[in-house]
Order: sequence, then structure tokens, then C-alpha cells
Amino acid sequence: MSRTVPISRQRNIGIMAHIDAGKTTTTERILFYTGVSHKIGEVHDGQAVMDWMVQEQERGITITSAATTCTWKDHRINIIDTPGHVDFTVEVERSLRVLDGAVAVFCAVAGVEPQSETVWRQADRYKVPRLAFVNKMDRTGADFFRVLEMIKERLKAKPVPLQIPIGSEENFNGIIDLIQGKALFFDDGTIVAKEYAFVDIPDEYIDEYETWRQVMLEAVAEEDEELLEKYLGGEELDPEAIINAVRLATISMKICPVLCGSAFKNKGVQPLLDSIVSYFPSPLDVTVMKGVDPQSGEEISSPCDDDLPLSALTFKLANDPYVGHLAFLRIYSGRIESGMTVINATNGKKERVGRLLRMHANKREDIKEAYAGDIVAAVGLKHASTGDTLCATDRVVMLESMDFPEPVIEVAI
Ligand code: GDP
Repeated sequence: MSRTVPISRQRNIGIMAHIDAGKTTTTERILFYTGVSHKIGEVHDGQAVMDWMVQEQERGITITSAATTCTWKDHRINIIDTPGHVDFTVEVERSLRVLDGAVAVFCAVAGVEPQSETVWRQADRYKVPRLAFVNKMDRTGADFFRVLEMIKERLKAKPVPLQIPIGSEENFNGIIDLIQGKALFFDDGTIVAKEYAFVDIPDEYIDEYETWRQVMLEAVAEEDEELLEKYLGGEELDPEAIINAVRLATISMKICPVLCGSAFKNKGVQPLLDSIVSYFPSPLDVTVMKGVDPQSGEEISSPCDDDLPLSALTFKLANDPYVGHLAFLRIYSGRIESGMTVINATNGKKERVGRLLRMHANKREDIKEAYAGDIVAAVGLKHASTGDTLCATDRVVMLESMDFPEPVIEVAI
């Protein structure tokens, strides 16, 4: 048995927002676009998106699951539900802990609101790299550039626009990609299609593009010496080199890339998915398993590697109407198999893992094995509570200390 998706092509992300900014709509649209492949040709308009979502919801998973898996361009994206609480509850902290990146959704009219500040600070505390998605660009009063300013002023982050909008409010009808130097128009063909085509930037937008491309390049080059040298030397910059510099600066939280769109109107969601894949780290880039031996108190750490003994954190328990009691796990090292015996390091009990499931928007997929870096649900664990560590019988390690919420798992970069 081996992996179907290499660890480098896996992303564990959350979507966080002030209430009403569009977290639910953005998540639903992400699930729509990632699930759309088998429906291409059938969908022509927004109504089809709605119909699809109603069907998915009737099947009972969609975004009600603590973790939903979807696929975009050969990458597995696990979307972990991040509770929208304003305070530092254990539940919020635990969900932040299992993420490697978060999309912060802002309303283009209201911008950074008090609750967005709280959630932002929580993500800072857990060193979660972020991308900002300025949503509701179609609404009256939408102002992408004002939100950029607010991210800088109120959140003390370094927002870097990777796109600028074409048109605004009800005339918001496209974006200019500042890295590729291309435009994307949201006409009928691109709004619901998985594949979409960039076109040349129309002449009337060239000046604005050049101004903002310079802003973007200067901000990125400040964080990347090689790029800075080329930029100052007036050399032609390869988009791949810029993308790589943005990725590294995002992972190390030196910048926050900013995109825009209107989830409700199906505008800008595909480029958001592309950015999730391009800029967020894989578990290999950031996660080091760090815990303690519950007997000796000795520290144990290891990289995110399939060939090491299992250690997995139970981050959420849930009752599924179809399969019963589910324990959602993030695997930090090793592999877990259905039928294997594990030790719960937190309470010392041995347990047998029953079925293992991957939760998709439209189905529960039975899997035999899951590997380091992944997020899956286990059925049939009787003694596991949230925060418990499950491990191999030959190496017992406790990932979450008793005095949680102090973080035990650290981000490497
Ligand atoms: P949440 O509270 O952050 O999960 O926000 P929702 O996704 O439930 O959205 C709140 C409201 O804003 C709903 O009525 C949505 O239909 C609406 N909404 C979400 N995204 C957009 C958008 O891009 N444009 C407009 N005009 N409305 C939106």
C-alpha cells in the first residue's frame, strides 16, 4: 500500500472570517469548483452552482464536516472547519494547530472588522501562514485598495496584492494577475468552469497594472535577495521565480498575498484555489512533530515522515448520521491503518482502529491507510477524546500537553 498523493501535493487549510464576510459561501464555492470536473458541460450558470450545493447538502457532508477533502490540479486540499469564535477557546486553538495555512476572507465593503482582528491574532499565535481573499467585490461600496490598507494598518501585516480588480461593484467583471501580466474576465465561460483562460491586458488597464505590479514586486523582492538583485538590475523576472519568492515569504509569514473576488457571484474562486496550491506549504515544509514521552517527560520530535512510528492528534469528535462516532485525526508522523492497534498516549489505553474515512463534499470514502501529514476520520475509537494522541505501540508520544493551550507542535520555518 502506498500514497496516492505525494505529501508535497497536500495542503491542510482553514478558512477564517468575520461573521458575514462570506466564509460559508467561499467554502461552498471551493467545494463546487473542486468537484465540478464530472459536471463540466452541465453547468452553465449560477443556478447550477446552487443546485449542486443543495444536492451536496442533502447528502449531509459538505461543510458540516470537521474536515472535508477536495482535489484541485493534482493536489489534495483538506479544509478544516475553523470555528468562528471570537475568544481563544480550546476548540479554536486546536483547529488552528492542525492547519498549515488559512484563507482570511474579508468583506470588500466592511474590510477588517474587530472580529477579524481577533481571529488574525489567533492565527499569529499558531504561526499559520495566510492568504487574504477580499470577497463581495460586487457590492456597492466595495474597495479592494482600502482593504489592503486596513490589513496593513489594523493587522500590522504586510499585504501584497497579487491581483487587482477590473471594474467595481456591479461592474466587477475581471481581475488582472500581477505576476502573469494577464487578465481574466468573468464572462459566462469562466464563471463556473474549472479551466479558465487568461487573456492580454486591455490597453486601458496597462498603466494601472504597471503601477501595481511594481508595488507587488518591490514588496516581494524585499523578502528575497535573489529576486531583489534581478529587480534592481532591471532584469526580466520569470513568473516562476516570483511565485516561488511569494511562496517562501508567505510560509514564513513575512507577507500576506491578497486576492479579490465575489464568491457569491462565482468570480475569482478558481484563482484563489490556484493560490492555495501555489503559496501554502505542504506538511513537509512546515510541520515538525514535537511531543513528550508521557512516562519520562522526555521530549520527542520527528519530521513528517511515513516511515516513522505513528503519532496522530485527535482534534475533533463528531457524530455522523450515517457512520456514527467519528474521531478526526491529523497524522504527524507514520501511518495509520484500519484494523491496527494503537495506544492512546493521553489515557494509556490500547484501541483498535476501525474504519478510516476521508470525507468529501459528496461522499465518505473508505480508505485502508493514511499517511503523515494527512487528515482523516476514524470510526470506532471508544476511548479517544479531543486532544488525545494516538500512537504506535513501539513509540508513545503525547502531542498535546496537559496544560494546553500552550503549543506543543511547532512550525519549522
Ligand atoms: P459567513 O458568515 O462568513 O459564513 O458568511 P456567508 O457566506 O454566510 O455570507 C453572508 C451573506 O453574504 C450571505 O447572504 C451571502 O449570500 C452573502 N455573500 C457572500 N459572498 C458574497 C459576495 O461575494 N457578494 C455578495 N453580494 N454577497 C455575498
